[in-house]
Amino acid sequence: MKQSMTLIPTLREVPADADIKSHQLLLRAGFIRQNASGVYSYLPLARKALQKVETIIREEMDNAGAVELLMPALQQAELWQESGRWYTYGPELMRLKDRHDREFALGATHEEVITSLVRDEVKSYKRLPLTLYQIQAKFRDEKRPRFGLLRGREFIMKDAYSFHSSQESLDEVYDRIFTAYSNIFARCGLDFRAVIADSGAMGGKDTHEFMVLSDVGEDTIAYSDTSGYAANIEMAPVSMEYTKKAEEAKELEKVRTENKKSIEEVTEFLKVEAKDCIKSLLFKADDRYVLALVRGDHEVNDIKLKNLLEAANCELADAEETRKVLGCPVGSLGPIDVSQVEIVADHAVAAIVNGVCGANEENFHYINVNPERDFKVSHYADLRFIQEGDPSPDGQGNILFAKGIEVGHVFKLGTRYSEAMNASYLDENGRSQPMIMGCYGIGVSRTMAAVAEQFNDEKGLVWPAAIAPFQMHLIAINMKDEAQAQLAGDLYGKFRAAGYDVLFDDRQERPGVKFADSDLIGMPIRITVGKKASEGIVEVKVRKTGDMQEIHIDQLQEAIE
Ligand code: ATP
Ligand code: MG
Ligand code: MG
Ligand code: MG
Repeated sequence: MKQSMTLIPTLREVPADADIKSHQLLLRAGFIRQNASGVYSYLPLARKALQKVETIIREEMDNAGAVELLMPALQQAELWQESGRWYTYGPELMRLKDRHDREFALGATHEEVITSLVRDEVKSYKRLPLTLYQIQAKFRDEKRPRFGLLRGREFIMKDAYSFHSSQESLDEVYDRIFTAYSNIFARCGLDFRAVIADSGAMGGKDTHEFMVLSDVGEDTIAYSDTSGYAANIEMAPVSMEYTKKAEEAKELEKVRTENKKSIEEVTEFLKVEAKDCIKSLLFKADDRYVLALVRGDHEVNDIKLKNLLEAANCELADAEETRKVLGCPVGSLGPIDVSQVEIVADHAVAAIVNGVCGANEENFHYINVNPERDFKVSHYADLRFIQEGDPSPDGQGNILFAKGIEVGHVFKLGTRYSEAMNASYLDENGRSQPMIMGCYGIGVSRTMAAVAEQFNDEKGLVWPAAIAPFQMHLIAINMKDEAQAQLAGDLYGKFRAAGYDVLFDDRQERPGVKFADSDLIGMPIRITVGKKASEGIVEVKVRKTGDMQEIHIDQLQEAIE
């Protein structure tokens, strides 16, 4: 590519509204330009780097047995209504109407579209498993679009979906894609970790995130200093907010109705179940009293509980208040008057996290939560309280925290979508069964930005070879010098013929400008044709190390490889 013919609008000044390295440098090096908040044009250099990322992704996904397709970004509301997410996804889903007043969404993700496709086209167990993926723009009206490509409102995602007739088959494909993801991020040169994730609004259970370690990451990872244990603590300090999220509303409603108990049952519960509680705490949430009973088998100490309650905007009742409400001091669990309280029982931590204490009934119904019996507590619930220095949950070493950028996410969805949308197949015995599903996402544009975030120095970007838009930057210092123009032109032709991706700075610019631009855009190797052109000698510089040597063009091929 001749630089005189392309568009690389570099900037000398650091843009005022960009506060992290990757955002600043991608703007300054002429990779991206913002259109609207969280909406960007990818200029030629960015397009090339994205293509490199996409090629790696395609190779690894194909290798894992996935097949590419392309689905529409414009999605009918009906599909989202079928899954229920039209009502629960919230304002992040961009909604619009056509000229006939029909409602649509711009694809934030494609579970609904692919589930409807596969339910119509796949009827028999013989066609399963099936794994399909696409690379495409996604739309999410993020509350806080920021950090350039790291959190956009239109961004590029690779999303994959798998369909199965058994859990074992899902487990197998999940593992294969997990390996593919590890390969992808390793090939991008990233320093990353796969961590246990929170299934959040997706309704899945087994799930991992791929986190690029970086101080600008918006996620916090708790990891063991000795073993490979690592998990996202995303939800930890904001559990109450989490429960208030609209997507939890349905789940909450289910928990509410399923856990209504009579007064007799409450009394019985307190007599039998609560007697060996290690802790009972009375607190006030939204003007209601909630009694939390914490069992001895959970490592919950006063400070952690207090932190949790504070984070959840709950107030611990003081001794006097407690006596007034319960008729006895908290902790003693004598004959308690429970008529004024709601009970979050057994595993208060999980109960609160799962939003149960947020459920209120007008009269004395209460919510008795027995995590294993009444609903499944994700075993990460305890993690929400993890602090640095705590023993690691796997018993090996102690916990440290690190910041991470989520570049990939894999989920075992189970039958969440297939049941809601009636995607079933006929098994060997001719019986209809819901398909078991998995889904797997990679933020393609975010991954490119994460590479930029990890690879830079004071002069600019330092692309790893696998992602660099061009392998080499060929510079002719003075295009008006015949020998230089001639040699540079020759080399450019030869490199291209040999299959190299070369950017050729053939502009009539001052050397200082050319070198500064070259350092800023950061191709791995720079070849400078200068004064010694007539002797056939050029200068080769490695961007990463700054190593520089003069080389005769006959030895150039060797030097580059
Ligand atoms: P986040 O927690 O950062 O909001 P997410 O968990 O909502 O991300 P997923 O639904 O798991 O995202 O989507 C799959 C992948 O898409 C993410 O792992 C991430 O790499 C990418 N992604 C999600 N939101 C954005 C965004 N606003 N801008 C760029 N990439 C994104
Ligand atoms: Mg998000
Ligand atoms: Mg996330
Ligand atoms: Mg995610």
